[in-house]
This record gives sequence, structure tokens and C-alpha cells, in this order.
Amino acid sequence: MDNGRSPKKKKLQELAAQLEGELYDDQTMRILYATDASAYRQIPFAVTVPKTVDDIKKLIAFARQEKTSLIPRTAGTSLAGQVVGNGIIVDISKYFTNIIEVNKEEAWVRVQPGVIRDELNMFLKPHGLFFGPETSTANRAMMGGMVGNNSCGSNSVVYRSTREHLLAVNALLSDGSEAEFRALNLDDFHKKCEGNGLEANIYKTMRSLLSNYENQVEIRKEFPKRSIERRNTGYAVDVLLESGPFTAGAEDFNFCKLIAGSEGTLAFITEIKLNVVPLPPNEIGLLCVHFNSIDEALRANIIALQYKPSASELIDHYILECTKDNIEQRKNRFFVQGNPGAILVIEFSKANREEIIDLARKLETDLRAAGLGHHFPLLFGDDSKKIWALRKAGLGLLGNF
Ligand SMILES: Cc1cc2nc3c(=O)[nH]c(=O)nc-3n(C[C@H](O)[C@H](O)[C@H](O)COP(=O)(O)OP(=O)(O)OC[C@H]3O[C@@H](n4cnc5c(N)ncnc54)[C@H](O)[C@@H]3O)c2cc1C
Repeated sequence: MDNGRSPKKKKLQELAAQLEGELYDDQTMRILYATDASAYRQIPFAVTVPKTVDDIKKLIAFARQEKTSLIPRTAGTSLAGQVVGNGIIVDISKYFTNIIEVNKEEAWVRVQPGVIRDELNMFLKPHGLFFGPETSTANRAMMGGMVGNNSCGSNSVVYRSTREHLLAVNALLSDGSEAEFRALNLDDFHKKCEGNGLEANIYKTMRSLLSNYENQVEIRKEFPKRSIERRNTGYAVDVLLESGPFTAGAEDFNFCKLIAGSEGTLAFITEIKLNVVPLPPNEIGLLCVHFNSIDEALRANIIALQYKPSASELIDHYILECTKDNIEQRKNRFFVQGNPGAILVIEFSKANREEIIDLARKLETDLRAAGLGHHFPLLFGDDSKKIWALRKAGLGLLGNF
């Protein structure tokens, strides 16, 4: 802590004395936390590393009193300034890292928000389970951030996004009160609307907004079509509208649908309950189709999706270019032939290699018949790992331009 004498410094010092965790307001720490993986930069008011839920409650009380904001932060790998701001950065990646409970029979896991996605899956592996959604940053990205961004990646054609696996969260609201958000049947939903607390007000407001006919029409008209599966555009009120009590026969209301993708603006999550799924089959094969242009690759993707791949990802001309001169990535380009305008990496995950070879050859035949693609290498084992490493590195390398 700086030992300045300004009223602001004094208040921060008083706050620091009450916390079990750490609080920093020196220039170095504030500059360190001024960015995420985006191009945005703003020096925060202070940085804290809370140790307990009680610490976070104290931070909320302080922020209310000082009229500043709290910015929850896990790994800080966001691409659009989600953890950049002039309020207090609350870094929970150090102390909120426990996997609390796993229930194999009911296929769920309860974690703190600072658990790293890949580490969660390492833990789940002996149970024959895993958390499906991934990101290119899955070896650093943490579950709080995945919920905040409603993250998903190359396998979203199968596992969709984090929202679809979010069962419940424990969170602190802006008045410091605790709430558990989970699926509620009609009776429980209306019961939650009773009372005068902030949690009840949230439910009452949602009920009033989503029962309004004009709002319903507007939401259904303006939000992206439901057929667009991978979408991340603002608060998902359209998803809530498609649940009980607003849509007859629909699934139970779960406010978590709105929390997923809300980028830390609605509540401070302290625990997350996630649905987990059986481990996918062991054998993985990548059909890496070379095209002259992105346009061809996109048209080919429509055909590829009919074969139900476990992933289908584009490696565009820019990624291919920027990895050419990169010492680490050059070796991962071993499968690239000539100078393609784009490569579509189509992943099949099956019980055995023969099944994959059969599918890949059928797809190749279809693509050739449609005049799409000119080189169709099919790769397995360590080779496929190298290709994903190339795809994952691409975005980071592009950021250096
Ligand atoms: C090279 C590169 C590739 C990427 N690829 C993908 C990709 O394929 N798919 C994808 O979805 N994203 C991708 N991203 C973006 C990012 O890595 C992911 O969205 C990741 O899941 C964010 O996790 P994080 O731990 O870094 O979250 P952070 O950046 O720390 O936070 C993300 C959001 O969650 C909020 N949050 C965190 N913890 C809490 C909490 N306890 N309570 C409330 N809100 C909270 C934050 O306030 C913020 O709004 C990529 C980023 C990079 C740099």
C-alpha cells in the first residue's frame, strides 16, 4: 500500500486492514492490472486479491459507499476489455481455486470461480467425466471467466457454450446479500418473487418485464434467431423468455441463463455448479481440407456439419501467414501444402480409427463433388495435437501485429 495521505488512500488503508486477502493501490500493481488480452487499457482505482467471501462482501460495501465499481477478474484473458476499468479489480484467481464437490451419479461438479478449465477436466478424468465447452485459452481460463463470457470454442457444435452447462451459482448481489440462482419450477419461481429483498426484486422485475406482451414481441423480433447456436450478444433475456412461466411447456426458469455472458455486471459469483458429461471416445482424427479462399471453406463447412464432427474450425490465411516465421509454430505447419487461402480443420471423435477414416473419405467425396477443396490430409495422434496448437496460437500471434 502507498502511504499517501489523501482521503482516498486513507480509506483504502482502512479497508486493507479489514481484509484477510490483499489490497494494492501502488502504481505498479494498478498498471499490471490495467489490461486484459484486448487492446483496451485503463488504470484501476485499486487491485484486490480477496481470500474469503467475507472479504468480497466488504469490498461490495466499500464500492457502494465510495461509488466505485468492482471488476471481478479470473485469468484476465478476455478479448474485449471485460476486466478493464477504473474501479477496483477483484482478482479471485489466487484463493478461489477449490473443486468443492463432484457427483458422478448426477453428473455435476461444484467449483469455485478460480478453477482452471483444463485442471477441472484433469480432476474429472478418473471419474470418466469432463466439462465440455472449451476456449483456445483453456489451460489458463477459469470457470468464473467462462461463465462471465459464456465461453465456448471449437467443439461448440457438440458441447455448445458454458450457459448450457451452468446449473446453479452462488453469488453476492450489489447490496452484499447472498443468493443462489438455480432452476425453479413454477411454484418456486413465484415464491421467489415474494418479499422485498434484492433477490426477490430481481425475480419480480424479470416476471414483470417478460410477462409484458410488447417486450415479448420486441425480444423475439430483435434477438438473433434461435437457429444460431453460437451466439453471445448481450444479456440473454430471449433465453429466459423461452422458459417457464413465460413459455408454456418450456424448461424451468433459471436466472443463471442470464448470468452466463453477463461479464461480471450482474452479480459476484462465489460458487458454480456445472453439468458434466461422459468423456468422449479416445480416437481423434482431423481432416484438414485445403481451400483457395475463405468463401470456399465456409461453404464446405455446411457440408462438413452434416457429418456431425466434434469440431470444425477455420485456419484462415492470416493465421497461416503469421505462423510461417514463428519458430515455435513452424513445426506445427507440417501438414500445410502450398499456399492455401484457408484450411478447415474438421475433427471426428470416435471409438476407432477405421470409423473416422470411413467418415472422412465420404466427406472428401462430397466436397470434391461440390468442387470444394484440393488437398485432404487426415491426421491422428500427436499430429492432431500439433494442428490444434497451431490453431490456438494463431489468435495470440495475430495480436502481436
Ligand atoms: C488467444 C485467445 C483465444 C481465445 N479464444 C476463445 C475461444 O475460443 N472462446 C471463447 O469463448 N473465448 C476465447 N477467448 C477469450 C477468453 O480467453 C475466454 O472467454 C475465457 O473463458 C475467459 O476466462 P478468464 O478466466 O480469462 O476470464 P476473465 O477475462 O478474467 O473474465 C471474463 C469475464 O468474466 C467475469 N468474471 C470472472 N469471474 C467472475 C465472478 N466470480 N463473478 C462474476 N463475473 C466474473 C469478468 O468480470 C469478465 O467480465 C480467447 C482469448 C485469447 C487471448
